[in-house]
Amino acid sequence: MSAPALPRYGSLEQELVAGEQMREQMREDAPAASRAASSLQWVRWTIGQPIRGQHCRISIMDAVTTPLRCFSEGHAAQMFADDGVETVTSVEQKKVERTIEEVFSVYKQIHSLPQPTLLREQHYQYLKKGLRHLSDAYECLDASRPWLCFWILHSLELLEEPIPSAVASDVCQFLARCQTPTGGFAGGPGQHAHLAPTYAAVNALCIIGTEESYGIIDREKLLDFLWSVKQPDGSFVMHVGGEVDIRSAYCAASVASLTNIVTPTLFETTPTWILRCQNWEGGLSGVPGLEAHGGYTFCGTAALVILGKEHMLDLKALLRWVVSRQMRFEGGFQGRCNKLVDGCYSFWQAGLLPLLHRALFKEGESELSRQRWMFEQQALQEYILLCCQNPTGGLLDKPGKSRDFYHTCYCLSGLSVAQHFGNMDLHHEMIVGREENRLAPTHPIYNICPDKVARALQHFHRLPVPEDTRQAPPPRAGPASTSADPRS
Ligand SMILES: [Zn+2]
Repeated sequence: MSAPALPRYGSLEQELVAGEQMREQMREDAPAASRAASSLQWVRWTIGQPIRGQHCRISIMDAVTTPLRCFSEGHAAQMFADDGVETVTSVEQKKVERTIEEVFSVYKQIHSLPQPTLLREQHYQYLKKGLRHLSDAYECLDASRPWLCFWILHSLELLEEPIPSAVASDVCQFLARCQTPTGGFAGGPGQHAHLAPTYAAVNALCIIGTEESYGIIDREKLLDFLWSVKQPDGSFVMHVGGEVDIRSAYCAASVASLTNIVTPTLFETTPTWILRCQNWEGGLSGVPGLEAHGGYTFCGTAALVILGKEHMLDLKALLRWVVSRQMRFEGGFQGRCNKLVDGCYSFWQAGLLPLLHRALFKEGESELSRQRWMFEQQALQEYILLCCQNPTGGLLDKPGKSRDFYHTCYCLSGLSVAQHFGNMDLHHEMIVGREENRLAPTHPIYNICPDKVARALQHFHRLPVPEDTRQAPPPRAGPASTSADPRS
């Protein structure tokens, strides 16, 4: 079989066109068709080659004879075997597996039909309350308040719960107070600008998606802030005087591309620096020379996709690393080799698979599936639905842990990735449990819903890219240029 034609999609401008086509279709079509179009337009650039007549929805609910994976014979054989060598981590791993085995077993005793349910109403109530009131336990996140806005708003959009306009406006006004006079957003009013809350604030404002929310972002000053944290080697520090790591490159690339302030030199040599973070394991680390890690790997890969350089990664090594992070017994993902399963990696790791699918397609891989991502989507959904839901709302790391907004956001984001494969013409859903478990799809680069990405791009691409003639200073000679590089 000859390799399929390379996709013609790929640039942000093309997403803009796709967004316009989507809205056109939404005006013309019935609600069901428009929902599919709006939710899946991003994959238009992901796979790029439609197959007519393959709109398809698989629901495990419809096939009650299909057993849950965790109830199948032989599932217990997937448990960890230490081969008689006990270590601190092997003991912890076995402890977690026993807890999860207990959860599966209790579920099996109570339910005659395997229909795990997403506790939508409970999650909605938990999230709604969090927008207005947080318990004392969140005091430690006083420097991460835009994150709380993003985690809650994104969770609500995945649940397809509208945000009342008065609440949206209050969030806008709060985030406006977090924007600093020198550009970028801080973790709270009166604090210093930092790339992480800047990413969270811009994402939250794009989810709200109103003229008011877009108008809050001072794009010229945001560009000044990005230059103030850019380093001579292409990396970024998280804040002025702060640490370098790969999250900063992603946060910078994400906000700059969404708000249309990417200038010719802003990301010069950034891809080269990110590529140095891919190590012998296949995943990426926070800085060159360290251990591969799910969160950092997502950030580095997504940043390279934005900058159009993902083909420079060793894609096959990355694929092998990430699929090996899905736990055989639990079904969820671990963040690093030899670590325990954690619900938040449902997005940081599983979210890599759409990026890899697209990258490998662009490289001419002809054997890629047109129905599934390259991980066990059913197993991940079972882990999230059975092991990560607090019965009174909110999601969590693993059984026994408490709920929080971070894990709620990333468990739901991962569940969405596991439910949706497809593009505008090739659309395949796999919903474990009831039909009502279906979440809205999420954009695998920005992790906000695809129609919000299209709308933001359309808004900001009407505005000119700010004038910018700045250049990064040349790299200093000496030790800085000979940092630990696994490729050197
Ligand atoms: Zn976690």
